[in-house]
Amino acid sequence: MLKKRRGKIPSLLSFSTGKPYKDTTKKEAKCNRCNLVILKGKTCFKVPKRSNGFTNDKIHCLTCVQEILQQTQKEIDEVKEELQNTEESVL
Ligand SMILES: [Zn+2]
Repeated sequence: MLKKRRGKIPSLLSFSTGKPYKDTTKKEAKCNRCNLVILKGKTCFKVPKRSNGFTNDKIHCLTCVQEILQQTQKEIDEVKEELQNTEESVL
């Protein structure tokens, strides 16, 4: 099985323009990140990405979507922590 890693794990904050959603492949597809072949009729996740004014839903395998979610969670946690450490009240 050919697996390709493309450097740093992206997060939804940096590359997505919407919420990923579960889908079933209608034909054989490749994961947009690791190039893993996802057979027809299998579960995948689509991550909306806007480019050139069009929304393009990128197919991801379950492993990659999990990694992306973890990365996103990590970034959100960092922001949360910064917010919690901010003394100033905004109310
Ligand atoms: Zn993948």
